[in-house]
Amino acid sequence: MNFRPDAAFPQTLDQQDELAAFRRRFVVNEPNLIYLDGNSLGRLPHETATLLQKMVAEQWGNRLIRGWNEGWMALSERIGGKIGQLIGADEDEVIIADSTSVNLFKLALAAVRFQHGRHKIVTDNLNFPSDLYILQGVAQLAERPLHIEMVPSPDGIYGPVEALAQAIDQDTALVALSHTVFKSAYTYDMAAVTRLAHNAGALMLWDMSHSVGSVPADLHAAEADLAVGCTYKYLNGGPGSPAFLYIRRDWQKKLGNPITGWMGQHHMFDFKLAYQRDPSLRHFLTGTPPVLATAAIEPGVNLLLAAGMDQLRAKSIQQTEYLIYLWEQWLRPLGFRLNSPREFHWRGSHVSLGHDEGWRIDQALIHDMNVIPDFRQPDSIRLGIAPLYTSYHDIYEAMRRLRMAVTEGLYKKYTVTTTAVT
Ligand SMILES: *Cc1c(COP(=O)(O)O)cnc(C)c1O
Repeated sequence: MNFRPDAAFPQTLDQQDELAAFRRRFVVNEPNLIYLDGNSLGRLPHETATLLQKMVAEQWGNRLIRGWNEGWMALSERIGGKIGQLIGADEDEVIIADSTSVNLFKLALAAVRFQHGRHKIVTDNLNFPSDLYILQGVAQLAERPLHIEMVPSPDGIYGPVEALAQAIDQDTALVALSHTVFKSAYTYDMAAVTRLAHNAGALMLWDMSHSVGSVPADLHAAEADLAVGCTYKYLNGGPGSPAFLYIRRDWQKKLGNPITGWMGQHHMFDFKLAYQRDPSLRHFLTGTPPVLATAAIEPGVNLLLAAGMDQLRAKSIQQTEYLIYLWEQWLRPLGFRLNSPREFHWRGSHVSLGHDEGWRIDQALIHDMNVIPDFRQPDSIRLGIAPLYTSYHDIYEAMRRLRMAVTEGLYKKYTVTTTAVT
């Protein structure tokens, strides 16, 4: 598509957008606020607000403990199964549980225990820090010496695919990577990297936190063994909503949950004293699920399924391309760098723009310009596009205001010291 830099152009694109109506399914209370942080915390679907009020009043309020047999117990599997449809998995291969970090811990430790005799976990330095901390903890808990090979990206943007191919060898128990990386949005070729792992006899674990709901993935086609992901980003499940985990069916009997609890026990209400795991994926549950927070995931997932992942991806590509076009026109001359892959093929649904004054510009955007991006050290303003509700107008306005924050020197009144949550 040939983009234009004028103010009428985004209106035309919004009029042509077949997914535009989905924006009305979300709470948008501040029309002048440009929200480009749906990759950190998705917007609230109207239906989720209604559902939660109803559940509190009717289910918790009226049904009390009877609620467990009237749907609560089945929520983790039922909603997990729906997420499976977004990522190319069958419904009995995905379950909602815990947080992404805890799920990664359970799956990674289960995988390395299965892979006796191998001494290495391979990852990269673009991975999310929590993932790296979890892997370090897993290495300490393994019953044998296990070290982590953290393969460096050549430029901090692209995944080090060739170096990974070198690092993955016969001593590798597990390869654990983010499908779409959190800073640059580089997105791995899931099938190709999974093949590298399998050729060496290693298991492959994907963290889909930054891709699920924005980048289509097909875990079955890629023959991926394991995956985890977040539900409060592009799935719009709400702050701290529980995460999901995927275990390919043929691994479910072979791998054991290292945190054995009653929710994973076979016939749990027999209250037997010895742990015997449930034959289904439920054995990767541990304790009582947060019912309200789990239920809140479903309306957002329904919206994604209704829109269709291929349609969402097509819109997301066009929107990130438009954003990068405006960067070239307006921001590149002002010292902004593109800290994301230029080719959409390698890019997820956010774009990182670097600037020497990145932190101060980020502050001016939030406090003076009513734009919410987020900031990632050392220099990146990260602009997240959630194709379900981000409009072309949002992108045009964000870039126009970003340009003004620099040309009018608005950022100069902010200090260079960073604050807590960014
Ligand atoms: C957001 C994100 C997480 C979040 O983990 P929590 O356990 O929910 O805090 C983990 N990994 C990646 C790659 C993420 O993007």
